[in-house]
Amino acid sequence: MERISWDQYFMAQSHLLAMRSTCTRLTVGATIVRDKRIIAGGYNGSITGSTHCIDEGCYVIDNHCVRTIHAEVNALLQCAKFGVPTTGAEIYVTHFPCLQCCKAIIQSGIKVVYYAKDYKNHPYAIELFNQAGVKVEQVELKEMVIEIHSKEKQQYVGELLQLLHDSDLDKKQVAELEATGKKLFAPPNL
Ligand SMILES: [Zn+2]
Ligand SMILES: [Zn+2]
Repeated sequence: MERISWDQYFMAQSHLLAMRSTCTRLTVGATIVRDKRIIAGGYNGSITGSTHCIDEGCYVIDNHCVRTIHAEVNALLQCAKFGVPTTGAEIYVTHFPCLQCCKAIIQSGIKVVYYAKDYKNHPYAIELFNQAGVKVEQVELKEMVIEIHSKEKQQYVGELLQLLHDSDLDKKQVAELEATGKKLFAPPNL
């Protein structure tokens, strides 16, 4: 059995956290790591106990949702709340941090930022990270680690198989493809 790398493990954790986002504009997850240990995690959402964007829509001013606390800041605030030092820590985020989060990350003493997807990478954020000596590296989440868009994929393959079925291709070949598809997309333990 091949072991999952630390990078993929922490990045997968951030993607899981992103699934908890309550702001529909962008689902983001962040995981803070020290000495290969997860010390905090956060996702895009409103203040605890407050209205959620998914329930009442976003509160948009100047094209930004002002209700939302960004995933990176939420993770940092969790450290503040529980008194966990962030000096020398690393952060894994699903998206390149915005300018505000970039500043918070630098100021909290985080030394490495791993991000999965480019997202409006602000030139000033890149400059600030450089100036502060914060290493920024893209770590894309490999597909096998965690299933993303599983329902959509299943539907897509189902549609492809149906098209093949209706075509005048060799029926035996189509049947084999169908069998493989069913095996690959069968829910676990069935
Ligand atoms: Zn929102
Ligand atoms: Zn941000």
